[in-house]
Amino acid sequence: MEKGKINVQTENIFPIIKKFLYSDHEIFLRELISNAIDATQKLKTLAAVGEFKGELGDLSVEVVLDSKAKTLSIIDKGIGMTTEEIEKYINQIAFSGAEEFVEKYKGQTEANSIIGHFGLGFYSSFMVSEKVEIQTKSFKSAEADKGVKWECDGSPEYSIKDIKKKERGTKIILHIAEDSIEFAEEERILGLLKKYCKFLPVEIIFGTETKYGKDDKDKETKTEVPRIINNTKPAWAQKPSDLKEEDYKSFYHELYPMTFDDPLFNIHLNVDYPFNLTGILYFPKVKKNFEVQRDKIQLYCNQVFVTDSVEGIVPDFLTLLHGVIDSPDIPLNVSRSFLQSDSNVKKISSHISKKVADKLEEIFKNNREDFEAKWDDIKVFIEYGMVSEDKFYERGSKFCLLKNLENKYFTLEEYVEHIKPVQTDKDGNVVHLYTNNTVEQHSFIQSAKERGYDVLVLDGPIDNHFINLLEQKTPKIKFARVDADVIDKLIQKEDALPSKLSEEEQKTLKEQFESNVDKQTYSVIFENMSETDQPVLILQPEFMRRMKDMSAVGGMSYFGAMPDQYNMVVNANHPLISKIKDETNELKRTEIINQTVDLALLAQNLLKGEKLTAFIKRSIEIIK
Ligand code: ADP
Repeated sequence: MEKGKINVQTENIFPIIKKFLYSDHEIFLRELISNAIDATQKLKTLAAVGEFKGELGDLSVEVVLDSKAKTLSIIDKGIGMTTEEIEKYINQIAFSGAEEFVEKYKGQTEANSIIGHFGLGFYSSFMVSEKVEIQTKSFKSAEADKGVKWECDGSPEYSIKDIKKKERGTKIILHIAEDSIEFAEEERILGLLKKYCKFLPVEIIFGTETKYGKDDKDKETKTEVPRIINNTKPAWAQKPSDLKEEDYKSFYHELYPMTFDDPLFNIHLNVDYPFNLTGILYFPKVKKNFEVQRDKIQLYCNQVFVTDSVEGIVPDFLTLLHGVIDSPDIPLNVSRSFLQSDSNVKKISSHISKKVADKLEEIFKNNREDFEAKWDDIKVFIEYGMVSEDKFYERGSKFCLLKNLENKYFTLEEYVEHIKPVQTDKDGNVVHLYTNNTVEQHSFIQSAKERGYDVLVLDGPIDNHFINLLEQKTPKIKFARVDADVIDKLIQKEDALPSKLSEEEQKTLKEQFESNVDKQTYSVIFENMSETDQPVLILQPEFMRRMKDMSAVGGMSYFGAMPDQYNMVVNANHPLISKIKDETNELKRTEIINQTVDLALLAQNLLKGEKLTAFIKRSIEIIK
């Protein structure tokens, strides 16, 4: 047996590893299993090129837990290591990597995911072990039953000696430390394997499970079979041409066992230049509360799970999607801030964005009916994308749809063409009328319809932002909610009708109205509308409402605290208003004013409490 001292200046590097990597202790298992997979894949490659001529046999990786002895072993049948290779790869390289690590990240706290980057992968096992053994036999070994054993207890001293070993490959035995005893529990290990290894390319076996079945005589059978953790051929690693719609769907449910809805459609990513990336993105079924579904995209590196928090890699608006992204080119072992500034990552992000736009455009062009059927579900992604990314706006403006009250869908351009003949105002603006609540705004919708106007339904969570954007980007279009103003002013064709009231009369009437309403909330103004329009309307100017709505979404308390303000529009040409003007009995006049105003408030669902009670009482008096 040979003893040696690992060549490091730091007296004992392990306490430092332990401390630095504190929050991420569990990843030791991912690192060790990745090494086992690498060793297995290397052997397969060598066999393929003829450098390894023996039997490959079963290549599965086994994880064995002995809870009593508190050992956890990871066993592979890969290339193994010779004594020289242990010297080179474990003693020297790994430790020089560790030293570099310590030097570089001394005193930094955000270093917990740097492991692996410096060849520290194997040494992460010391985060949870008081002693680590390697028993290995190289595929090159000429002797039938000779292997090597390396052992280290966390001090810079290790021992290395020859042992008897028949099977090719490497067995790593961790003697779990007292403070990490959780890793000697079956449930904990199973959980970790399911988290990190679910789609590894080589079978991972952990213990056994019971399989229920039937024999040839149709009798129930119960057999113990090895428990296989992973699906070695996940859909994203296969060729799109080999997959059917059903395969994508079932893979979706494999990824998200708790989600019952089918996805709407998927995008299979497959890039090999200028970087490698594969993956499948799914458009899930979402409607209004989309925030809860964020962070469902899983990031893999050669089928090893890395994280499910992909901000910085995937454009923000696409974090609403589900699915997987696998890339060996994303620097996985670095901090998040580094990731976000990495130029490769930026390219990946814009590429994904482009792919998503391609796919949407393809569906739109080839199957518009299907696209329209999905529109209500995907609209939020597309609008969010268009609001947050200029490039995506360019693409999206071609297939983004607007829906009207009749459930007809139009592209932005089509819609302008559709309404232009009747909804162009005297300044040449094409006015897009919309509602965000067909029930509450019913009477306003009716008056728009009576004039032959078309009304859009814009009730999505970010429609406010979205229409702001459309107005900025498109010359000569305007959006107005049906109740933003008198309909004839929203789409003003010519100068206003002459008024039936003199200025003097308006002034008197204005005072009479004002003395009966809350002046803080309602500003009384006169408009010369048609006799058949309502006598009084309560309206909220478009800009005011949008500002309030947007601040509510953005959480700006200044605007949020702003009280509601409305215009109380009195139709100067309505016979009822003339009647009020001519009424000499003050009591009677006040009664008509109150009644007219209350009806207008009712139409906007603004008559409540004491006022509503008074209205009902008064109405009963009138009809009695
Ligand atoms: P990395 O995997 O990043 O190179 P590690 O510290 O995890 O760093 O491993 C160092 C080296 O040790 C590997 O590159 C490999 O050559 C060797 N090694 C580790 N585990 C195994 C294994 N299970 N089988 C064969 N070689 C291994």
